[in-house]
Amino acid sequence: MPLYADIIVNISASDLDRSFQYRIPEELREIIRPGSRVDIPFNRRQISGFVVGLSELPAIDEEKILPITGLSKKSVPVEDRMMALAAWMRDRYGCTMNQALMTVLPVKKAAKRGKTKVEGPALQDVAPAAAPPLNAAQAAAAQAIHTEMRGQNRPSLLFGVTGSGKTEVYMAVIEEMLKEKKQVILLIPEIALTYQNLKRFYARFGARIGVINSRQSAGEKSETVDRAKKGQIDLVIGPRSALFTPMPRLGLIIIDEEHEESYRSELSPRYHSVEVAEKLSALSGAGLVLGSATPSLESFYKAKNGRYQLLELRGRAVPESRLPAVYVVDLRQEMKEGNKSIFSRLLREKIEERLARQEQIMLFLNRRGYAGFVSCRSCGKALKCPHCDVGLTYHRNGFLKCHYCGFQIPFPDKCPACGSPYIAAFGTGTQKVESIVQKAFPQAKVLRMDADTTKGKEGHSRILSAFSHQAADILVGTQMIVKGHDFPRVSLVGILAADLSLYSSDYRAAEQTFELLTQASGRAGRGTLAGEVVIQTYSPEHYAVVTAAAQDYEAFYAEELPRRELLHYPPAGGMLSVTVSGADEAENETFAKELAERIRAEYTASGADVIGPTAHFRSKVQDIYRQQLFVKHPDKAILQKIQEMTRETGGVRIQTDIF
Ligand code: ADP
Ligand code: ZN
Ligand code: ZN
Repeated sequence: MPLYADIIVNISASDLDRSFQYRIPEELREIIRPGSRVDIPFNRRQISGFVVGLSELPAIDEEKILPITGLSKKSVPVEDRMMALAAWMRDRYGCTMNQALMTVLPVKKAAKRGKTKVEGPALQDVAPAAAPPLNAAQAAAAQAIHTEMRGQNRPSLLFGVTGSGKTEVYMAVIEEMLKEKKQVILLIPEIALTYQNLKRFYARFGARIGVINSRQSAGEKSETVDRAKKGQIDLVIGPRSALFTPMPRLGLIIIDEEHEESYRSELSPRYHSVEVAEKLSALSGAGLVLGSATPSLESFYKAKNGRYQLLELRGRAVPESRLPAVYVVDLRQEMKEGNKSIFSRLLREKIEERLARQEQIMLFLNRRGYAGFVSCRSCGKALKCPHCDVGLTYHRNGFLKCHYCGFQIPFPDKCPACGSPYIAAFGTGTQKVESIVQKAFPQAKVLRMDADTTKGKEGHSRILSAFSHQAADILVGTQMIVKGHDFPRVSLVGILAADLSLYSSDYRAAEQTFELLTQASGRAGRGTLAGEVVIQTYSPEHYAVVTAAAQDYEAFYAEELPRRELLHYPPAGGMLSVTVSGADEAENETFAKELAERIRAEYTASGADVIGPTAHFRSKVQDIYRQQLFVKHPDKAILQKIQEMTRETGGVRIQTDIF
C-alpha cells in the first residue's frame, strides 16, 4: 500500500521534474492515484497539485513529510483533464509520468517574430464555398453521430469507400459543433495535410482554424496551442500530436483514416491516437468519430461488437464517379510465357493507352514490410513459419527465421513447393523502377515519390503539386502516393507487386496488404474519368488480393478474423511485444531469457502464453543487439501488469507495445 505521493505543483513544462513528496492520509489511500488533483500545504499556503507517482518509502526524513489535505474540489480545467490523460498513458504504455506529461502538455515557447505561418499560399484568403447538400446516406450518418453524442456517446466508426463523402460528413458535424460553441480536433495523417485538403476546411470555416504540423517551429505550435486554450480557435487540424491541443470547450474529436500506422507513436510513450482519443473522449465527454475506407481490424471488431457505433457510406458521393474496374494479373503466368519485365502485358497496354489519351498514371511499388522475406519466382509461394503463419525472414547467417517463435531452417536451394531454383529475397527499389519506366516509355514524363525525393521542408507538396498540375504523366512511388490524395486526371493505377507486404513477418501482414491495395485502387477514377487498376501479383488467389480487387472490406474481415482467433492474435486476444536491446550480445540474450522465465513463472498459471525470446528480425542495428519476446493473453489489464514488470531494467533498453 503506497504511503507517499509525489506531487508536482506547477505545470510549466520545464519544471516537471521537480516533484514533492507528501504523506497520504489513511482515508485517501485507496483513492489517490497518479493524475489525482489534491490540495496540499505549500510554503504555508494551501495550493493544489497533481499526483505523478506513489511510493511506499519516504524519500527524506519521515518527520518532515507533510500530509495531503484532501482531494481538490476546484473545477476541472483543461490541464487537469490532460494530467489525468497522462496518468492513464503512463499505465497503458508503461512509460514514466514525465514522458507522458511531456507528450500531453505542450512545451511553452515564444513564437519568433517574422516566422512563416501555415505553409503554402495564404489559406486565410481562400474564398468561402457553398457546401453541397448531403446525400441521404451522409445525412443519416451525421444525424446518427449527433444522436449518439447526446446518448451513450460511444465512438462512431464512419466506414465509407474512398470518395464516399466522409469529409463532407465531418464538416457537417463540425458545423453543428461550432454552432453549439464547442471546439473540435480533427486528426489527419501528416502526409495528407496538403494545401488541397486544408483548403476545403478554410473555405467552409474561415479563420477560426489552427493547423499543426511537424514542420512548424516550436514557437509556431505554441502559438496555435495558446490560441486554442484561450478559445480563439474552434477547429484544430493536425497529425497525432494535435490530439493534445488543450481545448477548454472540446466537443468532438475526429480521426480521419483511422487505420493509419502514423497514428502510432514510435517514441515513448508509444501511444496509439485512437486509443488515447477514446480515453480523452471519456474524460471530457466529447464525441469521437473514426473514419476509414479500410478500418483497422480492431476498430471494425469493436463496431461489430457494439462498442462503437457503425455507420456506412456505400457508394461514391459524386454520382458519375464510379469505383474503378480492377484487374488481377498473375506474374507467375507472365514468367511462364517469357515475360520477365516488371510490367505485365496488360499493364503495359493500359499505360500506353493512357499516355496516348494524356491521362495520368500512378505506379505503386509496395515496399512495406520489406525485411528480407523469401519467395519463389516460379510458383509465388513465400516461405512461412509452420507455427505462426508469418513469413520467414532471411538472416545473414544463411538461415531463414521466424521472428515470433525462433523457428529456423537453412536457406533452401530450391522451392519446397515446386522445386524451382528461382528462389530469392524479394525487392526492387523505386529508383530502379523509375529508370525502367523511363526506358520503357521514353515519351512519358515521370516523377518519383519516395523517402529520398521528399526530403526537406516542402518535399511532399512540391511533388504532389507538380503532379496535380500535370507536370508529369506517371508518378512512381511507395506507400506515400496512396494516402488520401485526389488527382482527377489519374485514370490508371498500377500495383507492380502486391506481394511484398503479404508475407512480412508481422501478424498484420494480410491486413496491411488489403489496406494498401484498396487505398491504392481508390486513387483511380476520382474525377469524371473512368478508373482502372491493375494489380500484379504472385498470389492472385490470396484472400487479401481477392477481396481488395473486389473492394470488399467485409469479405476480407470475414476471412481474416477467424485466422486471428485461431492463433489468438489481436483483436481476438491481447498481445504484448517486448524488445530488449543492448550493446552486449550475450548479456542482452541472458536478460531476455531471464525476463521470459520470470513472466512464465508468474503468469503461465493465469493463462499467459509466452513466446520467445528470439532474435528480433533486425537483430543488430548499429551494433545494438535486439531480442524480442511476445506474451499473449486475452486480458489487456494482465498484459499491462506484465509490462510494468519489464520496467526494472539492468543495463538494457526495453521497449514494449500492447496490441
Ligand atoms: P472521402 O472523404 O470519403 O474520400 P470526400 O468527402 O472527399 O470523400 O468526397 C469525395 C468527393 O465527392 C469530393 O469531391 C466531394 O466534394 C464530393 N462530394 C461529397 N459529398 C457530396 C455531395 N453530397 N454532393 C456532391 N458532391 C459531394
Ligand atoms: Zn516454387
Ligand atoms: Zn514461428
